[in-house]
Amino acid sequence: MNILVMKFGGTSLADPEKIQRAAARVARARRRGFAVAAVVSAPGQMTDELLSLARRVARRAPARELDSLMAAGEQISIALLASALSGRGAPSVSLTGAQAGVRARGPHGASEIAGVRPARVLAELARGRVAVVAGFQGVDGKGDLATLGRGGSDLTAAALAAALKAWACEIYTDVKGVYTADPRLVPEARKIGKISFSEMLALAEAGAQVMQPRSISFARSRGVRLHVRSAFHDAEGTWIGPDAAGENGVKALAVERVGVRARVSAVGRGLRPEDAEATRKILRSCGIACRRAELSAFRASCEVDAREAVPALRALHKAWQLGRRAA
Ligand code: ADP
Ligand code: ASP
Ligand code: MG
Repeated sequence: MNILVMKFGGTSLADPEKIQRAAARVARARRRGFAVAAVVSAPGQMTDELLSLARRVARRAPARELDSLMAAGEQISIALLASALSGRGAPSVSLTGAQAGVRARGPHGASEIAGVRPARVLAELARGRVAVVAGFQGVDGKGDLATLGRGGSDLTAAALAAALKAWACEIYTDVKGVYTADPRLVPEARKIGKISFSEMLALAEAGAQVMQPRSISFARSRGVRLHVRSAFHDAEGTWIGPDAAGENGVKALAVERVGVRARVSAVGRGLRPEDAEATRKILRSCGIACRRAELSAFRASCEVDAREAVPALRALHKAWQLGRRAA
């Protein structure tokens, strides 16, 4: 069986029309000869809405109950996507994390994957059905629902792809791939054709929301090829793969909030003190003070006042000509 894992994020399942589009994509992959395991997130902002609902009934809801509540979002998505697939004549079956064999361990709300027993999914695929699996959830040693940290459907997808020995793990989202910076903040940002696991991990840890950091570590350790692409366009997205020898230097930027400040990071392979110094200089030339600097092999960061985060990002993007250089 040539197995493909296709993960759809919440933004790609936000309304009935988008669910239909996701179903059409899955059905097309199936027609091309793939046995498809689709991993889904909760529709739209549902996870946040469920959390705010919990806050309205209890100031501090127990973590176990929050997991039970949050997991409901993904369960809505599996039932809807499987129904949309059936409506298109593509046989399918919805599976919760537990039914799909996703075992979790660790604290509620931030569990890790202890293992995946793929027998049920494999049996469904062998029968010619699409397995529609709830992301973000597993079952712990006590038989309780456990969630995998925010953005955890990416981790489910990577773990399922490893367990199924899938050809690749496709991450369908609302942007066309991984960009040189968040395209919502930097309009000149460019799509990157290929990025290594280590660069992508550094970018995710630096705040780029597009993939959950733990999913990248998992994919790197198990050699799962990731392809981040648009749920709404056909073009190739960004391939994330082995840390082959490549060009050193800054490849992309990310920003994350740190209290009243923001940490702006330049990410790339083999970064040196000169790159950190250049970051500071570029910011200084725009009148932005770097309050605290940090450097590691894949990341040079500066803390700036939060209101200066976006100007800092745009200034660095322009100075390094990331829009032009990227693949
Ligand atoms: P999903 O619902 O598919 O899981 P997310 O909201 O988690 O989607 O991630 C997609 C978002 O990540 C994009 O809409 C984009 O604003 C943001 N993002 C941040 N940094 C980047 C980047 N470097 N490249 C692409 N997207 C990024
Ligand atoms: N629905 C969960 C969240 O909002 C998991 C995910 O989207 O990957 O964090
Ligand atoms: Mg996400």
